[in-house]
Amino acid sequence: MLNEINQKIEDLKNEIQKVNDLEELKQIKAKYLSKSSFYNKLKNSIKIAENKKEIGQWIQTYTLGINSILNNKKEELENSFFLVSRDNPLFKSKKRINIEKKKGIIHPLTLVSIQVMEFFDKLNYHYAHSIELEEEKYNFDILNLGVDHPAREMQDTFYLSDGKLLRTHATNMSARELVNSKDDKYRSYSIGPVFRNDDNDATHSFQFSQIDIFNNGNNMNVSNLKWTLNELMKFIFEKNLDTRYRPSYFPFTEPSYEVDVQCPHCQGNKCRICSHTGWIEVLGSGMFSPIVFKNAGKNPDQSQGWAAGIGVERIAMMKWPITDIRDFYNNDINFLRNFKGEEN
Ligand SMILES: [Zn+2]
Repeated sequence: MLNEINQKIEDLKNEIQKVNDLEELKQIKAKYLSKSSFYNKLKNSIKIAENKKEIGQWIQTYTLGINSILNNKKEELENSFFLVSRDNPLFKSKKRINIEKKKGIIHPLTLVSIQVMEFFDKLNYHYAHSIELEEEKYNFDILNLGVDHPAREMQDTFYLSDGKLLRTHATNMSARELVNSKDDKYRSYSIGPVFRNDDNDATHSFQFSQIDIFNNGNNMNVSNLKWTLNELMKFIFEKNLDTRYRPSYFPFTEPSYEVDVQCPHCQGNKCRICSHTGWIEVLGSGMFSPIVFKNAGKNPDQSQGWAAGIGVERIAMMKWPITDIRDFYNNDINFLRNFKGEEN
């Protein structure tokens, strides 16, 4: 019987990998814990058995094993920005996407996300699932945004009664990776929504999406940061565009850079989309400040790394002539139909 229990747990481990959403998870749960399942057979066997205590322990082993796998998967799905698993072929390559027109099309923000995933998969970055309901510690404190820091006021957000908040930037994932990574060398990225107490107009929204890039290692430097971000921009815009690094200030990086990309519409020749400057600001980046390493419990003298944050909507608005950020969220079929050419 014990062998059978272990086999069932192994079966679930294999099956759970293919689960893409909460509905499928519910069906799997029923399969393993319902009245018609092996679980019920196990429970019934105790009634007639002599070794009741032993069988009781087996039932406990079974339910604990099954529930732990199910709960982990549930958490993973709930924390994921996408309702589709990253193992889904949809996310593997843009070229493989082949959805019938009748079934709908891929949202422009998802198209950008797929490209970002393709790029970082090639460079062997780990994909970190976004935590959106965050502790102040990761969203602010570790990132040198203490309670009195003026920048904190600019990132006003939605607070919950238990002290948690809706994250104001995706850099909370860099803070988490820094605290939790045991390796001296570690690189990861994440994509997901962030929230601000902001106006809702053509260029602002209370919710938008960010890409967070985290690269930690003793030999990391600004050259590495620049190479990665330059290559990412070329990959996303599918053009050889120049970049411009302007010194800036972020409380968690030193030095810090705002990065402009040559306007992909006029190739730097100045047009309406780039406000006749030839450049568009797309991201913020920099080397982690020693204060951040210290806050994360690392030795600042032995640590080096960089981070970057990119707005997904900003990239999409550069790739296609989209002028109103609200178009991404209104679910207007006429707007979405513009992207049907991106299906294949
Ligand atoms: Zn332009």
